[in-house]
Amino acid sequence: MIPFLDLKAQYATIGHDIEAAALRVLRSGRFVLGDEVATLEDNFAAYCGTRHAIAVNTGTSALHLALLAAGVKRGDEVITTPFTFIATAAAIRYIGARPVFVDIDPATFNIDPGRIEEAITPRTRAIVPVHLYGQMADMDAILAIAEKHGLAVIEDACQAHGAEYKGHRAGSMGISGCFSFYPGKNLGACGEGGMVVTNSDDHAKQIRMLRDWGQDRRYHHIVEGYNYRMDAIQGAILAVKLAQLENWIEARRTRARLYGQLLTGPTVDAPREAAGRRHVWHVFAVRTRDREQLQKMLAREGVETGLHYPVPVHLQPAFADLGYDVGSFPTAEAAADSVLSLPLYPELELSSVEKICDLIVQDAYVD
Ligand SMILES: *Cc1c(COP(=O)(O)O)cnc(C)c1O
Repeated sequence: MIPFLDLKAQYATIGHDIEAAALRVLRSGRFVLGDEVATLEDNFAAYCGTRHAIAVNTGTSALHLALLAAGVKRGDEVITTPFTFIATAAAIRYIGARPVFVDIDPATFNIDPGRIEEAITPRTRAIVPVHLYGQMADMDAILAIAEKHGLAVIEDACQAHGAEYKGHRAGSMGISGCFSFYPGKNLGACGEGGMVVTNSDDHAKQIRMLRDWGQDRRYHHIVEGYNYRMDAIQGAILAVKLAQLENWIEARRTRARLYGQLLTGPTVDAPREAAGRRHVWHVFAVRTRDREQLQKMLAREGVETGLHYPVPVHLQPAFADLGYDVGSFPTAEAAADSVLSLPLYPELELSSVEKICDLIVQDAYVD
């Protein structure tokens, strides 16, 4: 059996260091924020190449606070992609702002910059590109449009820790960048976690206040805030794991390259790294004509697969009031109907990649 994801395999490689870090926190009596989290923030800002990093409790909270710091208010519009995890749009809605979707580029699955301008109205405040599957969106084009129209760009980098666009790390190109440390992400906590990175001193200050009840010192609440603080135990664990992230990314890239070489034939289209990018392969999603059949065949052979995502956000019942319908974003809908995510993680055996590719390639020639 080849699991879609195997967090136990990763734990086996660094469990000793994680246990030492967790024990240090348990014995310290300091459980929320504190030095452990501050150290993670410093290390993560350095990793992303930004002046600041502010740790929070989830990636969703990171997006919520980054939008607030960018001045997004009730009734504003925020342009984003419908082909993403629900959290991107949910964070916009938390403010009472409206997500305005723009269809995707079929080659990268990311927002199509060529369609952004037609979605801009006098109410548009920000653009939230999502670096889906671990590959950055076309940031030069997006930043040029944002500058022309006076819009903030907030990167949803929740799947893209360490990804690059023309040498710039994910999160460092917009006014801020948001990360998730959900356990299954490329850098995952032993629980929940998130981070905002920014080069703006002002945004960093606001986000620091907002995550901790809007206070600038204890019991002095300058703005209405939230309890979005990171636990010390997650900060300590994530600092241990961050030191491994480059090795893990290289291992992912090696496995993605092998998939790309071996997945030939008519059954599937393998995803590609676009020019000028460093793809970190959070998800390896192939396109296939008969997804259900392929998924069933792989399941029969003991290979677990995933769907990211079977329903685009504009067709989710939770957001029916936005007024979108089938046909609103045909490229995103076609992607949702045809993608299948194959197992990919640093500890995945290369022989497992070969086996999966054999099964898929041979499947083309049997009935
Ligand atoms: C995981 C994810 C989020 C949300 O992060 P959480 O830590 O689960 O709140 C947001 N956007 C994208 C694209 C994600 O993949």
